[in-house]
Amino acid sequence: MSKIEMKTPLVEMDGDEMTRILWKYIKDELLLPFVDLKTEYYDLGLKHRDETDDQVTVDSAEATKKYGVAVKCATITPNAARVEEYNLKEMWKSPNGTIRAILDGTVFRAPIQVKGITPCVKNWEKPITIARHAYGDVYKASEMKIPGPGKVELVYTAADGTEERVLVHDFKSAGVVQGQHNLIPSIESFARSCFTYALDTKQTLWFATKDTISKKYDHTFKDVFQEIFDMEYKEKFDAAGIEYFYTLIDDAVARVMKSKGGFIWACKNYDGDVMSDMLSSAFGSLAMMTSVLVSPQGFYEYEAAHGTVQRHYYKHLAGEETSTNPVATIFAWTGALRKRGEMDGIPQLAEFADKLEKATLSTIESGVMTKDLALITELENVTVKNTEDFIKAIRTTLEGIL
Ligand code: NAP
Ligand code: MG
Repeated sequence: MSKIEMKTPLVEMDGDEMTRILWKYIKDELLLPFVDLKTEYYDLGLKHRDETDDQVTVDSAEATKKYGVAVKCATITPNAARVEEYNLKEMWKSPNGTIRAILDGTVFRAPIQVKGITPCVKNWEKPITIARHAYGDVYKASEMKIPGPGKVELVYTAADGTEERVLVHDFKSAGVVQGQHNLIPSIESFARSCFTYALDTKQTLWFATKDTISKKYDHTFKDVFQEIFDMEYKEKFDAAGIEYFYTLIDDAVARVMKSKGGFIWACKNYDGDVMSDMLSSAFGSLAMMTSVLVSPQGFYEYEAAHGTVQRHYYKHLAGEETSTNPVATIFAWTGALRKRGEMDGIPQLAEFADKLEKATLSTIESGVMTKDLALITELENVTVKNTEDFIKAIRTTLEGIL
């Protein structure tokens, strides 16, 4: 069988620890034998980020703007312990944060569903994708403890010096106060990324805030979404047979629980933080969550939602056997290859991505899986494989399908 040709390279962002090990196995066993893989390689492993003063992260994000599609391995976000472990020059910033800032993107997280692992919520037949706004609100708030009686006001001083004031509270006792903000361009980018991704995946988009209580702040989010939808996306949504649906956040939560799934749920920063953890654990496992960063211009960066699986890596280094789940990392590759195939008009590449996903899921459905899934499956007669043998088992299934 001849290998599938590619036209444009994928931006390949290598990473750290156990996921770096998975990365190589996946390429060697599941990609290179079947695809004439074209990538522009960026080593975002912590050692190389340190050597390049983190320039490699910036370069990889710029390359994503140039080519349109990237695939990223999980990377270490340094903390004090990592600075010591890797003898770093600096506590470099989170690569995901750097890339997101350059692409101005929104992260969409979706569970990978497989027969034999049923979500806690029985009526969720299809995945629910969460989009979290990644700027502002409580994450960039200024706070104060109020020691005793006194007035707190919000003061806006315009560039020309004119002032506008509103009373926050006339305190009669001690208390606390918080000032939050957001930016119209950031809300607009968030909205455009959500509408773009909804069209791309042909899924209805939900958005919810508390605009009945927050008549200026949250209402602005609602208005920005509605204006951009009406001006730029309504006709395209109608043509695609999908909807944009706005409701109150508490109503959205209640409806999500009763839904069948199969939609995108756009959340403000805090709601997305909280709800994405609820959804991922209710769907089964962090090792079965994909993540894609979508910029308002339509650049895509695919990755797994989990981290570098440090604990498994240390076992691996000690020569012990590991059973690390590669599914989300495989789906990062298939997501990127499918998108590249669609953009470049190479249907064989998109079909290969479909088949590799199918082979991965069929392998699990046949009872062959990693340890984390064996612990939560309701399938009987399960065979637990180690990291490398599970990937080889997927290859055998894939060769059968191809
Ligand atoms: P983690 O890598 O997601 O792993 C936490 C635990 O979840 C693991 O110890 C393991 O549980 C389980 N797990 C996660 N992925 C798994 C997989 N594929 N297969 C099997 N089990 C899996 O989170 P962490 O250990 O807190 O973070 C490690 C490093 O990852 C940190 O340096 C952090 O900065 C980085 N990180 C990177 C990203 C990213 O690049 N997007 C995201 C998050 C964290 P058991 O140990 O119980 O088996
Ligand atoms: Mg959280």
